[in-house]
Amino acid sequence: MSLAAPTPAETVTLLAAVAATAFVATLVWLALALVARIALRASLTLAAANAASALALTLHALRGVAPDALTRWPSDVLAVASFALLGAAVQAMTTRRLSWQTTTLTVAAVATLLLALPDGVDPRWPARIVNGAGAALTLVAGLLAWRQLGAAADGRRAPAALALPLFLLSLLLAARTVETFVNAGSAGDLRVPSAFNIACLWAAFVLVLLQNAALALLVLMRLVSRIERLLQRDPLTDTLNRRAFDQALEQAHAWLQRGRGYALVMIDMDRFKQLNDTLGHAAGDAALRQMVEELQPCVREVDRFGRLGGEEFCVLLPDTGIAGAALVAERMRALVHAAPLHWLEQDWPLSASFGIAEAEPGDANGAAVLARADAALYRAKKQGRNVVQE
Ligand code: GH3
Ligand code: MG
Ligand code: MG
Repeated sequence: MSLAAPTPAETVTLLAAVAATAFVATLVWLALALVARIALRASLTLAAANAASALALTLHALRGVAPDALTRWPSDVLAVASFALLGAAVQAMTTRRLSWQTTTLTVAAVATLLLALPDGVDPRWPARIVNGAGAALTLVAGLLAWRQLGAAADGRRAPAALALPLFLLSLLLAARTVETFVNAGSAGDLRVPSAFNIACLWAAFVLVLLQNAALALLVLMRLVSRIERLLQRDPLTDTLNRRAFDQALEQAHAWLQRGRGYALVMIDMDRFKQLNDTLGHAAGDAALRQMVEELQPCVREVDRFGRLGGEEFCVLLPDTGIAGAALVAERMRALVHAAPLHWLEQDWPLSASFGIAEAEPGDANGAAVLARADAALYRAKKQGRNVVQE
C-alpha cells in the first residue's frame, strides 16, 4: 500500500487555514489595542502584520483564479510587509521604540527589486526574494527580542525563549529559499501539492499560533508589571509608597542577622504647610516632586526611596553605617537648599530637615530603627531646621 500523494485541495485548504488564523489574530490584536488599549502601538503593528500576512496568503491561494496583476506582485509585497511589520512590532514590544523607517525602506526595496525582475526570469525568483527577505527580517527580529528579553525590563525578566518562534519562522523561510535551489523540480509555489509544501504549511500554521501566543504572553507580563508598579508607587512622586517601603525595610532588617547592616535617612520638608497655605496645594505638590527629583542622584540602585506620608520621605541605604548616611544626608540637605521653587514668577526658598539612624543588632525590627531616625528628625526641627541630626 502506498501513501496517497497530497492533492492541490490539501495545500489550498492548509493555506486557507493559515490565512484564517492570521485573520483571527488580526482581530484579537485590534481588540487588545482599540478596546482594551493595551500596548497600543505594538498591538496595532501586530494587527497590521497579521492582516498583511492573511491578505498575502489569500491572494497567493487565488493565483491562476484571479488576475496575475492582483495575485503576484501585491501578494509578494504584502508577504514581505508582514515580516517587516512583525519585526517592528517585536521591537516596539521589547524596546518600546517603533522604527518606521527601517520597515518602510525594507519593504520598498524588496517591492522595487521584484518589479525590476526582467521578463522571462526563472519564476522561482520572486519566491526566493520574498522568502529570503522574510528569513532575514525574522532572524533580525529574533536576535533583537532575544537580547532585549534577557535584559531586565521593569525589573522583571521575560524568558528569552519567547523569541524562539521568530527563529523557527526564520528557519522555515530560509529552508523554502534553499529548497528552490537544491530541488530542481521545485516551483517555489506553496500551492504545489508536494510533501515539502505540506510540511511547510503545517509548520507555518503552528508558528503563526505560537508567534502570536508568545507576543500575547509578553503583553500580559508587561501588564502585570505595570499593575505591580501601580501598587507599589506613590502616584505623585513615583517613590515607593508606605506599604512597599515598610516591606523593603523589613527585608533589609531580616538581612541584619546575616551581617548586612543598613541605615535610614528620614527627610521632612521645612515649613511645608506655610508654602501650601501661601502658594496653594499645586505649588506644594510641585515642591515635593522637585525635591524627589533633586535627591535622585544621591540614591543608588540598591537604595530604597519611599514616601512615608505628606512631606515625609525616607531613604533606606543597605550596607551603610551612620557615617555614610550622614554624608548622603548632608549632600541631600545642600541640594534641596540650593534650589528654590519657581512658582508663578516668584522664588520660594526650600529646605528640609534630616534624621539619620543605623540599624543595630538590638533592634527588634525595622520600625525600631525608623523610630530612632524619626526622633533624630524631631531634634533637627528643634535645632532650627535645614540640618542633619543623628
Ligand atoms: P515643619 O517645618 O515643622 O516640618 O512644618 P511643616 O509645615 O512642614 O509640617 P506640618 O506637618 O505642620 O505640615 C505638613 C503639611 O503637608 C500639611 C499638609 O496640608 C501638607 N500635605 C500633606 N500631604 C500633601 C500633599 O500630597 N501635597 C501637598 N501639596 N501638601 C500636602
Ligand atoms: Mg515638614
Ligand atoms: Mg511632616
